[in-house]
Amino acid sequence: MCECKTKDEIEIMRRAGNVVARTLDMVEELNLEGMTTGELDSLIEDHIRSQGAVPGFKGYHGFPAAACISIDDEVVHGIPGKRIMKAGEIVSVDIGSIVDGFYGDSARTYAVGDISDEKRLLMEWTKKSLMAGIDKARKNNKLGVVSSTIQLTAEGQGYGVVRRLVGHGIGRKLHEPPQVPNFGSPNDGPVLRPGMVLAIEPMVNLGSEVVKTMPDGWTEITIDGKSSAHYEHTIVITESDPDILTLV
Ligand code: MG
Ligand code: MG
Repeated sequence: MCECKTKDEIEIMRRAGNVVARTLDMVEELNLEGMTTGELDSLIEDHIRSQGAVPGFKGYHGFPAAACISIDDEVVHGIPGKRIMKAGEIVSVDIGSIVDGFYGDSARTYAVGDISDEKRLLMEWTKKSLMAGIDKARKNNKLGVVSSTIQLTAEGQGYGVVRRLVGHGIGRKLHEPPQVPNFGSPNDGPVLRPGMVLAIEPMVNLGSEVVKTMPDGWTEITIDGKSSAHYEHTIVITESDPDILTLV
């Protein structure tokens, strides 16, 4: 049942994770205001390829771009294109890479210019819920301890935690077992074992947790039009502290 990775495989996955981390760091340095999401996607693809990696999402089930770029009420899986990013918006950027056949996967939400306190806090608490969940990703814990910690952290602030989309195991495939929900009981799910690699990725909404798919077949939006934030890391369960592969 445990899709545990070897030490050598984890070191390859760390390289894939580092490519994604450096690319998300590059996005931090950009002035997104006035840029189109398509232009941002091109910069991201070039940055991934310049590190000798392959964009992990391009062509995945037919996805047309290197990054998923989702603005405000778009939760995840937004398709880059002609939309211009404007001050006051929050933009979630989700990136995958492939190095020597293994995936890295990470996401962050960025502020465009000045944003409202409401959106700033949503971003902060979504990141806090991710990091609180990662801190529970320890040997012999059930996966549900991670999930319930994320849920309680975000819902404790009155936010909606998306149910329909979840995190996942990751390795030679972008999506491997087990599913990693951002909600549930501490007693749910498998027991975590050293060598398990998980992509943990809370999607947290200012309002309702309910999402729907746009007619493009990809973009997920909130049912009430309120904003959503998304943070994701690829992590390894170890003998001691969780090891985050998508940080440099
Ligand atoms: Mg992702
Ligand atoms: Mg993912």
